[in-house]
Amino acid sequence: MKKISILGSTGSIGTQTLDIVAHNPERYKVVGLSAGSNVDLLLRQAKQFKPSIVSLATKQDAEAAKLHLPAGTRVVYGEEGLIEVAAETDADTVVTAIVGSRGLPATLAAIDAGKTIGLANKETLVTAGHIVTERAKQRKVSILPIDSEHSAIFQCLNGESRQAIKQITLTASGGSFRDRTREELEGVTVAEALNHPNWSMGAKITIDSATMVNKGLEVIEAKWLFDVTYDQIEVLIHPESIIHSYVEFADHSIIAQLGLPDMRVPIQYALTYPDRYPTPTGRLRLADIGKLHFREMDFDRYPCLRLAFECGRAGQSAPAVFNAANEVAVARFLNGEITFLDIERVLETVVSRHEAADMLDLNMIEEVDSWARRLAQTV
Ligand code: NAD
Ligand code: MG
Repeated sequence: MKKISILGSTGSIGTQTLDIVAHNPERYKVVGLSAGSNVDLLLRQAKQFKPSIVSLATKQDAEAAKLHLPAGTRVVYGEEGLIEVAAETDADTVVTAIVGSRGLPATLAAIDAGKTIGLANKETLVTAGHIVTERAKQRKVSILPIDSEHSAIFQCLNGESRQAIKQITLTASGGSFRDRTREELEGVTVAEALNHPNWSMGAKITIDSATMVNKGLEVIEAKWLFDVTYDQIEVLIHPESIIHSYVEFADHSIIAQLGLPDMRVPIQYALTYPDRYPTPTGRLRLADIGKLHFREMDFDRYPCLRLAFECGRAGQSAPAVFNAANEVAVARFLNGEITFLDIERVLETVVSRHEAADMLDLNMIEEVDSWARRLAQTV
């Protein structure tokens, strides 16, 4: 039986991970759950799955939850609580499903504790890819991708030699505004931006899909996960989200991974790799779909993707700055403080004022991350 802890159990990835567990109670045991402020849902999850530890963002919420937890479940809180859930249980696998670079310390703690990482929290790899991958290598810990594109690439690479990779193609649905011109993006609302055509996801990644920042983060994530160069990574618009990504090899053979857009497939694969089991998901029938469509990526339409490539290539602290500025810009857009197009303006301004520092350690990353956040609040 596989023991798992979930960081961010009340979110989109967290709840879908628990759905997989609920369908296969004989295969998994949940030992730790952590959430931000959704106390009610965390309590319901704790009653159903009876973990040994849960964590909430604040002391106040943790104290309120304490009274209603099942016997045998301990509650902790804050950054330290999150780290406890990540590292101080007997979990085999930690699913990192919280949003943003705040997931970094807990992810590193889980790696240090020798846990396999089911990685959804891509911002940690963007912010500190060199540290996370190096640490995982040292500790002989696997980082198994949950992001659908990266799970696809990971599956395509099964049994293949990394030296034989010619190109990795990440597919992109195009997000909520894929059929609009740039002029038509003026004045779009938060509700419109949150209406993704193919996937139901948390608010931040849904906005990131509309700006194409999500694909930018995924390009950087792919660089670290698969140890390829930026020249080997391409992005292709594929509105149906059926081909989740593909790899072209040296002999020009292409291997792709296909399926209905349902995150429970890549989530389960990260939990059961290298084995496969049935999932409670629908089956893809290509005859029902009939046609699949593809469009060249238009970097003028999606300038944030170009910026992500530039930051990735610049390396050092640039990806951390890009990510932190984006986290703030998206929060400001969701709060109604700035417009949709302001997100890219904020990103461009913050990135252009940053002088890439050779980032060797976590303290410097933290510094650069805070600097970018402060600036992104004011521009
Ligand atoms: P979400 O907003 O739905 O969920 C976020 C979770 O983090 C919630 O459980 C929330 O309570 C928790 N959280 C927030 N603040 C916290 C704190 N201080 N301490 C502990 N927990 C806290 O987000 P999501 O869509 O599930 O995305 C999670 C991650 O997975 C992101 O990095 C995203 O990019 C990635 N991802 C998501 C999808 C998807 O389909 N949703 C697909 C691929 C990758
Ligand atoms: Mg993805």
